[in-house]
Amino acid sequence: MSTINQLPPTPVSATSDNVVLVTGGSGLVGSALQHLIFSEPIGSSYGRKEGEEWVFLSSPECDLRNITQTQEVFRKYKPGKVIHLAAKVGGLFANMSSQHTFLRDNLLMNDSVLQASHESKVNKLVSCLSTCVFPDQVTYPLTEEKIHLGPPHSSNFGYSHAKRLIDIQNHAYHDQFGDQYTSVIPTNVFGPGDNYDLKDAHVIPGLIHKCYLAKQNETPFVVSGSGKPLRQFIYSRDLAKLFIWVLREYKEIDPIILSVGEEDEVSIREVADAIIESMGFTGPVEYDTSKADGQYRKPASNAKLTRLMRESGSEDFHFTPFKIALKESVDWFLENYQSAARIGMAGS
Ligand code: NAP
Ligand code: GDP
Repeated sequence: MSTINQLPPTPVSATSDNVVLVTGGSGLVGSALQHLIFSEPIGSSYGRKEGEEWVFLSSPECDLRNITQTQEVFRKYKPGKVIHLAAKVGGLFANMSSQHTFLRDNLLMNDSVLQASHESKVNKLVSCLSTCVFPDQVTYPLTEEKIHLGPPHSSNFGYSHAKRLIDIQNHAYHDQFGDQYTSVIPTNVFGPGDNYDLKDAHVIPGLIHKCYLAKQNETPFVVSGSGKPLRQFIYSRDLAKLFIWVLREYKEIDPIILSVGEEDEVSIREVADAIIESMGFTGPVEYDTSKADGQYRKPASNAKLTRLMRESGSEDFHFTPFKIALKESVDWFLENYQSAARIGMAGS
């Protein structure tokens, strides 16, 4: 019999406000958060608080699709705060090929984490949406109140609907029980420790890996699609800082967009050119227009973020310039190509 719907009648346990549990702690964003938390001085703006304990989960410790395993992990660590990053994540082509898996895995993980948080009386939970939750047909720029105004783009409707529902769940838990659950909406994330799978990765790690192989094998560097779509990219190490700010300062249930400004949209062609430059690739470049472009653009406004950060006195935060962040990411890939486990899977 499935354990999915078997919820125990009693609360899981009392929480410790000093424990911060991060689901998806081994992923791109989770590893950036680990890097930040363990490199910043204790008590600094983006470091640990004195006496605070951070726990980073990965899937071997707990399959969050299973509520019983999730409850056990909450019973073990008794977190007072949770950053919920764990998700089935992939680029355009992974989403297009597995809509149901992206829908179901994410629905189950989100339901387990939110329900276990509720049962164990977590004080604050920050979950992660994505700009693909927004309607396909909507006026730009995207702003927080437009999420539910129409269906998302068809290319990733499974993932998008599962992610949208987190906002509904947050409001339902708050409305009925007063729970303090919120969510953030990052744009396309990249950085050290990304998923470099040639088929399933997002565009930046996918193209870093393809450019590397093209250089090694002296073959053309093939970019999928026309190169014309525009995206706002956020460096994982900048995003990690914003997560700390949200955990400490952001008080709303409604989501908040975490993004560079609208003026910082970059075309896929510019991404490819920046990778070529960082990698020192000198061979031919081809655009495979038989492959999908996905959404042409989805510019998001960071007006709410900049206003609230200013009001909270967090004016020391600055986004890393795109080309510097990209160079750091390419350098990380080159330094870790042989050893990083995730890259080992990358030829699939
Ligand atoms: P990622 O690198 O693919 O990492 C996913 C994390 O989730 C890993 O730690 C993985 O653990 C964990 N996980 C996956 N399935 C699990 C399961 N069944 N049980 C427990 N843990 C599981 O993803 P990411 O890029 O860091 O994304 C973090 C968050 O940001 C996600 O919520 C994602 O939707 C959101 N986001 C990402 C992007 C982006 O461009 N990457 C953009 C917008 C929003 P293992 O590695 O141990 O399997
Ligand atoms: P999105 O931002 O959610 O659409 O996801 P992606 O990070 O997968 O970016 C997709 C965009 O990058 C589309 O316009 C693709 O055509 C383009 N692209 C070009 N080459 C690649 C590649 O190797 N992998 C991926 N995922 N996208 C690519």
